[in-house]
Amino acid sequence: MNQPLDASPPRPSADGTATPAPRRCAAAAAKDPTPCEGPREAATLVDRQGREVAGCVHHCARLLAGLEGARVHPFVPTSQALEIYSRARELPPFAWEIGR
Ligand SMILES: [Zn+2]
Repeated sequence: MNQPLDASPPRPSADGTATPAPRRCAAAAAKDPTPCEGPREAATLVDRQGREVAGCVHHCARLLAGLEGARVHPFVPTSQALEIYSRARELPPFAWEIGR
């Protein structure tokens, strides 16, 4: 074993998927197939426990619709926050589960 540890070649993904999933924002639910919209850190949500997650407007709205007690972080510009709230109001919780 005279090989330096950091010289290992990159390993292919273990699950056998050939194409890597496009990187999405942190607010995108794993089961939500929709792509991001706009900047990936356009807004931040705060959940009931005070945990923060940054995401695009689209995924923040989708997440907010199903996250009870969550809100948009006060640092988010008002126009952006309103956009997220108004979108979330139109969405059922976990919209992707019913194909929306
Ligand atoms: Zn997103």
